Amino acid sequence: MAQLLLGKEVTASLNEEIRRKVAQLNEQGVTPKLGIVRIGEREDDISYERGATKRCETLGVAFEKFLLPADASEEEVLKVIQAVNEDDSIHGVLLFRPLPRHLNEDKIVNALAVEKDVDGITDGSLAGVFTNTALGYPPCTAQACLEILKYYDIPLSGKRAVVVGRSLVVGKPAAMMLDRENATVTICNSRTQDLPQICQEADVVVVAMGKRGFIGADCLREGQTVVDVGIHVGDDGKLCGDVRFAEAEPVVEAITPVPGGVGTVTTSVLVGHVVEAAEKTLL
Ligand code: NAP
Repeated sequence: MAQLLLGKEVTASLNEEIRRKVAQLNEQGVTPKLGIVRIGEREDDISYERGATKRCETLGVAFEKFLLPADASEEEVLKVIQAVNEDDSIHGVLLFRPLPRHLNEDKIVNALAVEKDVDGITDGSLAGVFTNTALGYPPCTAQACLEILKYYDIPLSGKRAVVVGRSLVVGKPAAMMLDRENATVTICNSRTQDLPQICQEADVVVVAMGKRGFIGADCLREGQTVVDVGIHVGDDGKLCGDVRFAEAEPVVEAITPVPGGVGTVTTSVLVGHVVEAAEKTLL
C-alpha cells in the first residue's frame, strides 16, 4: 500500500504559516488583499473563485471582485488592470484565463504588475521561475506540487524526476522548480515516444497532461512517488486524475489522491503569495 500524500495535511501546515504572517501584518496595520478579475461567467472560474474567497476568509485575507461581462472590450479590461495595479490596498491579483477569444490575452496578462502577479501568469513571473529570482510568483499549481513533495520529505536532490506535460501553468514551471531542487528532470509532451519506459525510470513522476486515467501500472514501478495534477469527472460522476489511482496505488511508494491531493494545496499557495506580496510592500 502506497503512502497517501494528502493535500489537507500540506494545506494545514501552509495555513498555519499564513495565519502567523497575517497576524504580524495586522500588527503593522496591513490587511493583505486579493483582487479578483473575472471576465464572464465560466463555471470553472466561478468554482475556483469560490474556493479562493473561502480560503481568504478563513485566513484573514481580504478580497475584492472586479467582474466584467464576457463581451467587455480590451480597453475596459485594461482599465481594470490599471486600476488594480495602482490600488495600494490590493497586494495580489487573480485574473481568470482563458480570456474571451476577442481579447488579446498576452497584452492583458502582461499589463498586470509583476509584483502583484500572485498566480504566476505574466512573462515576468515565468522569468522568475526560470532564473530562480524573486520576480513575480511561480504558478500556484506547480508550486503546490513542490510543496507536497517538500512537506512529505520526498528526496529530490540527485533523483530522477519526470514531468508529463509542458504547459506554462503546470508542467514547465514544475520541471524548473524540481531542477532547482537538484533533481534530474525529463519533461514529456504529446509526441514523447516510450512514455511508460521514461516514467518508470523516474523516482518522482509529476503528471499534468489533462488526460483522464492515462497513466497506469505499465508506466510505474515500486519505490516511486507520484503527484497527479489532473482533475476530471469520471463516468461515475466522481472526480479523478490523469493517473489510474486503483492501479497505481498498490505499485508505487507514495501518491497524491484525486480529489484530496494537489487541488486544495493550490488555493493555499495562492493566498500565501498574497500575504508575501503584502509583506514585500513593507520592505
Ligand atoms: P494542458 O495545457 O492541456 O497541457 C497538457 C500537457 O500534457 C501538454 O504539454 C501536452 O503535450 C501533454 N500531453 C498530452 N498528452 C500527452 C501524452 N500522451 N504524453 C505526454 N504528454 C502529453 O493542461 P494543464 O493546464 O497543464 O493541466 C493539466 C491537468 O491538470 C488538467 O487535467 C487540469 O485540469 C489539471 N489542473 C489541475 C490544477 C489543480 O489545482 N489541481 C490546476 C491546473 C490544472 P503538448 O504540449 O505536446 O500538447
